[in-house]
Amino acid sequence: MRLILLGPPGAGKGTQASGIVKKYNIPHISTGDIFRKNIKEGTELGIKAKEYMNKGLLVPDELVVAIVKDRLVQDDCKKGFLLDGFPRTVAQADALDIELKNLKYNLDKVINIEVSKDELIKRAVGRRICKECGGTYHLIFNPSKTEGVCDECGGELYQRKDDNEETVTKRIEEYLNKTQPLINYYEKQDKIVNIDGKQDIDKVYEDILKALGGE
Ligand SMILES: [Zn+2]
Repeated sequence: MRLILLGPPGAGKGTQASGIVKKYNIPHISTGDIFRKNIKEGTELGIKAKEYMNKGLLVPDELVVAIVKDRLVQDDCKKGFLLDGFPRTVAQADALDIELKNLKYNLDKVINIEVSKDELIKRAVGRRICKECGGTYHLIFNPSKTEGVCDECGGELYQRKDDNEETVTKRIEEYLNKTQPLINYYEKQDKIVNIDGKQDIDKVYEDILKALGGE
């Protein structure tokens, strides 16, 4: 199974990714992870990427694609893969298509976890974190027994600075604007599978498996 996973921050993408790679026994290729690995191991690509990051610049598409390609040619990808965090733009998607063609890999599906803007804002704004143990809570979905106090350790719960409504709204709008052309791109290829991400985690997972032809 060769898959791409798309979904906005706060859509529960991480949880779904772990379930999918386990079910299909395929590697989870998260661009964040492979970037960190290349940088840590001081590979040629990692050193180049770090130069951009140190200057506060975006890593150019060419280099991002090279890093992903370097991962895709590894043996474990022969049985399939789940790409997470890539592609982010139509230009990257184009480049990926070329690489996949060279590798004679055919992309099966692009899973798009959909959650409305209002719902994403509600999720992010209600998030609370324990100052002591890092435990996470949510005012609506997972409240602590006593407001503002961690159930586990009694620590004080706080809201991350970038979880305020204004920052969250900006972050989500940016994501949606950037991702829509990518969704259109894969819709044209008839690869998109839209999944209702507002449901329970388990139901979302069930819908993904169904769409992929699992039970
Ligand atoms: Zn705690």
